[in-house]
Amino acid sequence: MKNIPEYFGSLVFDDRVMKANLSDEVYRSLKKTIDEGARLDSKLADAVAGAMKDWAVSHGATHFTHWFQPLTGVTAEKHDSFIEKAPDGRVIMEFSGKELIQGEPDASSFPSGGLRATFEARGYTAWDPTSYAFIKDSTLYIPTAFCSYGGDALDKKTPLLRSMAALNVQAKRILKLFGQDDVKWVHTYVGPEQEYFLVDREMYNRRKDLIFTGRTLFGAKPPKGQEMDDHYFGTIKPRVKEFMEELNEELWKLGIFAKTEHNEVAPAQHELAPIFTTANQATDHNQLTMEVMQKVASRHGLVCLLHEKPFAGVNGSGKHNNWSIATDNGTNLLKPGETPHENAQFLLFLCAVIQAVDDYQDLLRLSVATAGNDHRLGANEAPPAVVSIFLGDELTAVLDAIETDAPYSGSEKKQLKLGVDVLPRFFRDTTDRNRTSPFAFTGNKFEFRMLGSSNSIACANIMLNSAVAESLRQYADELEKAENFESALHDLIQKVIREHKRIIFNGNGYDDAWIREATEKRGLLNLRTTPDCMPHLLDEKNVKMLTAHKVFSEAELRSRCEIMLENYCKTVNIEGLTMVSMTKKEILPAMEAYVGELASGAVAKKNVDPDLDCGYEKSLLRSLSALMLQIHNAADELEKALVHLKTLSGVEETAFAIRDGILPKMATLRVAADEAETLTAAKFWPFPTYEELLFGVR
Ligand code: ADP
Ligand code: MG
Repeated sequence: MKNIPEYFGSLVFDDRVMKANLSDEVYRSLKKTIDEGARLDSKLADAVAGAMKDWAVSHGATHFTHWFQPLTGVTAEKHDSFIEKAPDGRVIMEFSGKELIQGEPDASSFPSGGLRATFEARGYTAWDPTSYAFIKDSTLYIPTAFCSYGGDALDKKTPLLRSMAALNVQAKRILKLFGQDDVKWVHTYVGPEQEYFLVDREMYNRRKDLIFTGRTLFGAKPPKGQEMDDHYFGTIKPRVKEFMEELNEELWKLGIFAKTEHNEVAPAQHELAPIFTTANQATDHNQLTMEVMQKVASRHGLVCLLHEKPFAGVNGSGKHNNWSIATDNGTNLLKPGETPHENAQFLLFLCAVIQAVDDYQDLLRLSVATAGNDHRLGANEAPPAVVSIFLGDELTAVLDAIETDAPYSGSEKKQLKLGVDVLPRFFRDTTDRNRTSPFAFTGNKFEFRMLGSSNSIACANIMLNSAVAESLRQYADELEKAENFESALHDLIQKVIREHKRIIFNGNGYDDAWIREATEKRGLLNLRTTPDCMPHLLDEKNVKMLTAHKVFSEAELRSRCEIMLENYCKTVNIEGLTMVSMTKKEILPAMEAYVGELASGAVAKKNVDPDLDCGYEKSLLRSLSALMLQIHNAADELEKALVHLKTLSGVEETAFAIRDGILPKMATLRVAADEAETLTAAKFWPFPTYEELLFGVR
C-alpha cells in the first residue's frame, strides 16, 4: 500500500469510477445532478444503482447502507445485504434504483424534538448524489439526507444542502451584476482542521469518566503541563506516528484528502487537516475522519479523545472551519483580485461576510454551542464567546479609507473611489497569526475558530452560508435596481462598512479589556454558555432569515432548539452522575484505605516505641479526614441537585438549573477531590492520574 495516487479513493464511487462504469448518457445526467442540483431522472437511477452494486461487489462488498447524520451528533446506518432470492432457490446480488434513492430506516428512536409526533411517525432517507458513495467494512455507504414524511429535516445534511443552495442563488445574482453571466454554480468550500488527544487504552479503561463522558471529571494538575511549549510541532512519538500512518492510509482509500498532521499545544494533543472540498463533502468527510480516528486508535492500543475539554488546565480541542466561496470556473470570490474590477467584486463579498457575522453573531455562536465547548470558549485558550472578525491591518486600512473617502495609504497611495475603474490593487495580508480571533480572514478564506472538536461542522456552515446569502440578497435587491451601478456599489460598500465595522477587531481576543469593549462600547453579544445562546435560535430576526431562505421551517427550528438544549442537559446530567459514582465507589474508599494504613502505621510505631513522633501521620490524617467529609458532603449535594432536576418542567428551565446549580456543585466536588489526590499515596489512588494519561503514550 505505498503508491498513494494509485490507492487514493480506491474505495470511492467517484467521478473516475462513474465515467468508467456508466453509459455516456447516464454519466452526463448524473453529473448535471451533482454539479447543478438538477433532478436525476428516476429511470437512470436503476442504471446508476446497478453500476454501483457491481463495482461494490467487485471490491468485496456484501451489504449496502444509507448513511445519515441525525441530530445525535454521530452518523447512523442500517445495513442490508444485496442478496435477493433467485427462482432456482439460490441468491443473486441485486440493488435497485429505488433502493439507492430512498430508504426507510426505523426512525422512531432518533431525536426529532417533537417533529415526528406532530407529523408522521416514520422517516426516510434520500440519496445525496453530491457526496460520493464509498465502501467501508464490506458495505457500500450511500450518503443520504434524513427527513420525516412531512418533509421536515431530521438531520444536519438537509439544511446544509439548503443553505448551500441559498448562497448559490444569491451569489449568482451578484455575479451577474458584475457581468458574470456564465457562472453555473457557486459553492462553499471548507477545510476543517481537526484536533484530538490520544491516550493509552489500558489507562482509559480504568477511568469511568473518560468512558462515560469523554472527559476527565477529576484530576490534579501534573507537575508539568503545556507551559514549556515543547509539544507544539514537536517530534511525533513512534507509536503516534504509526497511528497517523495507518489513519492516513484509511482516509486516503476513502478519498479523504488528509494532508497535514502535527503535535498540538497540549501534551498528547494532535491535529489533522485535510485539503478543502465542498462544504457538503467536507462535512461527510469530517464525520468519517472522526470515526476512522477512533477505530485506528484502538488498533494501536490507544483511545482518540474528541471531547472539547478532556483535561482541565491544559488546552482543549477545537476545529478550525476554513471557509470560502468559489464558482464552477474556479474563481475564489474571497480572493483579492488582480484588477480594480475584481477587487470591487471581492470587496462586496467581503462586506457580505462582515455584515453576516455582525447581524447573525448569535446564530454563529449557537451553531457551536455544546456542553463540551462551553469549557473552551472564553477560557483563554480558544476564542472568546464574543464573535468578532480579524481582517488584518492592510484590509482594515482599505476599509477605513473607503469609509471616509480618505486617501488610502496602502500599496498604492491614492484616493479610493469605489467606482469600479479606480479601485487600486492591494496585496493580500497573509500575515495572520492572530490565533485569538473567532473569525479570521486568512488571505483568501475565513477561518471560523469557535467550533468544538467533536461538533459536526454542518451547523456552523449552515449558519454561515445562510447569513451570507442574506447579506447578498439585500445587496442584489438594491443593486439590481440601481441606475448607476458603480456609484450605488460605492455607496453600498461604504454604508456596510459604517454600519458593521464594530464587528472588526484585530487585537488580542483573550484580553479581558476586549470583552469589556466589545460588550459595553460596541454592543456585541457575549453569550457564554449553551443555555444563554440556544434560545436565540428562535429570535424573530433569525426565524425570519432562515425561513426566508428555506433553510429551516419554523417547526424545524423549534425542534432543533429543544434537541440542542436536551443534549446539553443530558450531557451534564451524565457527568454529574458519573462524578457521584466515582466519588462513592472509588475515591472515598481509596482514601479510607490509605487513612487506615496511615493510622495502623502510627499505631505500629507507638507499639515499637511510645516516644516515637507521629506528627506526620496525625497531620495528614487530619487533612484527609476533613477532605473526606468535604467530598462526601459535596457529592451528596450534587446528587440531591441532580434528583431535583427531574422535578423541573421545561428543558430551558432545566438547562439554566444545570448552568447555575449543577456545574458549580461539580466544580466544588472536584476541587476537594483533586486536593485529596495530591495527598493520597499513589498506589491507593483508584485511577490513572493526569501525569500518566498525558505523558503515558510513548
Ligand atoms: P494554517 O491555518 O494552519 O496556516 P492553511 O491556511 O494552509 O493552514 O490551511 C488550513 C486549512 O484551510 C486546510 O484544511 C486547507 O485545505 C484549508 N483551505 C485552504 N484554502 C482554502 C479555501 N480557499 N477554502 C477553504 N479552505 C481552504
Ligand atoms: Mg488554520
